[in-house]
Amino acid sequence: MFINYLPKLHFHFSSLAPKPKLLFTSTLSSKPISGPVAHFSTATLLQNPQLNSPDEPGPVEISLEKLFVPPETDVSSETTPLSARILKGSNIVLSKYAGDAQVGQAEFVKSSVNTEDCPGDGLPEFALVGRSNVGKSSLLNSLVRRKKLALTSKKPGKTQCINHFRINGNWYLVDLPGYGYASAPQELRTDWDKFTKDYFLNRSTLVSVFLLIDASIPAKPIDLEYASWLGQNQIPMTIIFTKCDKRKKAKNGGKRPEENVQDFQELIQNFFQTTPPWIMTSSVTHQGRDEILLHMSQLRNYWLKH
Ligand code: GDP
Repeated sequence: MFINYLPKLHFHFSSLAPKPKLLFTSTLSSKPISGPVAHFSTATLLQNPQLNSPDEPGPVEISLEKLFVPPETDVSSETTPLSARILKGSNIVLSKYAGDAQVGQAEFVKSSVNTEDCPGDGLPEFALVGRSNVGKSSLLNSLVRRKKLALTSKKPGKTQCINHFRINGNWYLVDLPGYGYASAPQELRTDWDKFTKDYFLNRSTLVSVFLLIDASIPAKPIDLEYASWLGQNQIPMTIIFTKCDKRKKAKNGGKRPEENVQDFQELIQNFFQTTPPWIMTSSVTHQGRDEILLHMSQLRNYWLKH
């Protein structure tokens, strides 16, 4: 549906020479501060209708400098207004690389206990990670439109593994163990840290980490630590805000999901050179599902071509 207008766009990304995975990686990952950032006029504010809350009329605006602009994408193109090229409920600008966003086939492939053990077929992959109970399994099921695919990852013995799901036979969704079990012994937490960090640092086919953050509650220190570590280590990252349908004030500390989304971004802004891509989602209403898949497709297609 979004793809229809893509071919009409003319793209050009002046601040980045098209080179390699690493360059795109660093753009996508929003490197820690150093060097130039994409040039935007910050005077302009863009309205993203999907960010409006039903109980709060009036548009939520995103400044140009807070958009995620993929390489080879010209924000000043006049063929299609920029506001029409931003994925709903996100800060992500569509590029010419978006496409093949449908999930036709999804299959569990394997559980690995370390990075070396992961599939070696070289297909690109996206890793989902977040605090336990953030809604990771629900999101995974929503993305593949299956009710119980992610149950595989919850089976005893597999919760502490790297679980690979092959999509359409040509890319992977990877379910990583949830972090932040309050009751987990320190030893186990350290192990988890070592294991997932090794995967992030050494998995050459990892296109982007999708860090899930619960938008129905205020940010937790462990989530901030996590985002900070990913930023410091220049791991490509997309933030997925979950549970954006939850609006009961008493339950979420008086803040709406939109406010928590904004607060989180302010808290992490110093961790990155440029704003990381983010998308608001709900596994109940399926808000954000198509947008995540489209975003994954443009990251993947770029990765495959460079
Ligand atoms: P995981 O531990 O991260 O895999 O989290 P689950 O997917 O098992 O979800 C944890 C709890 O949050 C469950 O009770 C889900 O029903 C609930 N949940 C997950 N996603 C959403 C969502 O988008 N909206 C709402 N309202 N609840 C959700």
